[in-house]
Amino acid sequence: MTTTRARSVQHFIDGAFEDSADAQPIDRLAPATDEVVSIVQAGGAPEVARAVGAARAAFDEGPWPRMTGMERSIILGRVAELIDRDAAELAALDAEETGKPIRLAEGDIAGAAGLWRYAASLALTMSGSTYTSNGPDFTGLVLREPIGVVGLIVPWNFPALILSQKLPFALAAGCTAVVKPSELTSSSAQHLVRLAAEAGVPRGVIGMVVGDGRAGQAIAEADGIDLVSFTGSTATGRRVIAASTGNIKKLSLELGGNAANVVFADADLEDAAAGVVFGVNFNNGECCVSQPRLLVEDSIADDFVAEVARQTRMLRVGQPMDRTTDVGALIHAGHLQKVTSYIGGAADEGGEVIVGGTRVTDGLLARGQFVAPTVIDRVGPESAAFQDEIFGPVLTVTRFHDQDEAVRLANGVQYGLANSVWSKNVDTVLQVAKRLKSGTVYANTTIDAPPQMPFGGYKASGVGREMGQAGFEEFTELKSVNIRTGKRAASFAIRAGA
Ligand code: NAD
Repeated sequence: MTTTRARSVQHFIDGAFEDSADAQPIDRLAPATDEVVSIVQAGGAPEVARAVGAARAAFDEGPWPRMTGMERSIILGRVAELIDRDAAELAALDAEETGKPIRLAEGDIAGAAGLWRYAASLALTMSGSTYTSNGPDFTGLVLREPIGVVGLIVPWNFPALILSQKLPFALAAGCTAVVKPSELTSSSAQHLVRLAAEAGVPRGVIGMVVGDGRAGQAIAEADGIDLVSFTGSTATGRRVIAASTGNIKKLSLELGGNAANVVFADADLEDAAAGVVFGVNFNNGECCVSQPRLLVEDSIADDFVAEVARQTRMLRVGQPMDRTTDVGALIHAGHLQKVTSYIGGAADEGGEVIVGGTRVTDGLLARGQFVAPTVIDRVGPESAAFQDEIFGPVLTVTRFHDQDEAVRLANGVQYGLANSVWSKNVDTVLQVAKRLKSGTVYANTTIDAPPQMPFGGYKASGVGREMGQAGFEEFTELKSVNIRTGKRAASFAIRAGA
């Protein structure tokens, strides 16, 4: 059903918003109501080519890479202030298009502003190094330079936040960018691009092509792009790798996850139970660091699972804009179908569904894609519900005997993005943290991502890092400049060790 208030989402190319020349736009249905809320232009290779051309010109000839770090920092800081100014509007856009609870969307926008502020500070500190050990007549400079034009491809689950994990870091380094939000959640990106222009980011520095995978594919293939920073599923990440080989572009890939919460008997069990319930249900479970696998020491398992079940039953499934909602609507009907089929599959294999397990259709919720927060006990490690990224509010429970088994189970999936360990014994915490194959380990806590900590995956969860100094440096190249002073020695004399 189309409503009269459906928004138009357009490309932003060389400083102007525009429609596609001929492609049919994409209708975006709000997942909580099934009403069309946005009409999104469907971009492809022609729009990407023009946006890349403008970004290339802005990089090769424009002021942005030539500004001082201070000048760029001031503009990025101004964007953060404008995000604060428009926070309510941005949060409402993301809540409506993702189906996530408004309270969480507000947290995303506050986080996004924080990322622009943090990146503004990095613009001031971009630096290389100097080697005085190259010999008395040599000084070695390692220069850090912006890598060039970057393509930034963003998923739907944290639209404004994940764009802000990429764009301000690229801009801080002096890069220019072509952005592609998810076709399901493009409205906040359109608003952010507007704010960046209002803050003084020069024309052509940021381009945006909206649309589906065809626009993403064109960015991954474009020879005028030097780096693609992609966040999305591991399956699409593989396509991006294959498409990127033409000009051997650098890739930063933030892919799928399937985290475990490892709970030992000596943990603060009340705290751990609250963390487990939050870890799997946060953002409707549609979070790359979501923690859908509870691994619990068998001596406490029955009592602990009972407490987790009790807290899960208290969660409120509801409309995204209702401030009492804990779990909102899943992103679309196909995804709801996928999540419920994993629940059915686990039950068929002997898992015991002790909470939830079904779609929620009470009253107005019948129009949207709602599923009850679910706990499935006694799920084996060979089950698809244990191995795959379900991406919904579904917790599987698996028991372990000792630390070795816990680590084996936690690491026994293709992903390696994040895991949690719960124990009051510092030996256990550190031993397990070191043995877990994931880019992040939370100890006695759960999902969090401070902007100064690098974030990324081991194994099929990706390559490269976002945020932190390491995330900033992804957008740079190093150039070694070896400077000789004084007169050069004989022509073919090669210095020892050179
Ligand atoms: P997706 O892979 O379907 O889409 C991600 C983006 O890629 C979208 O903008 C999409 O339009 C685009 N795309 C689709 N086909 C493409 C192609 N062939 N070439 C280039 N781009 C293409 O992912 P999604 O469903 O939007 O997001 C959910 C996934 O993202 C989950 O797997 C989740 O774990 C992952 N994710 C990872 C992180 C992380 O930091 N590691 C963060 C959030 C989400």
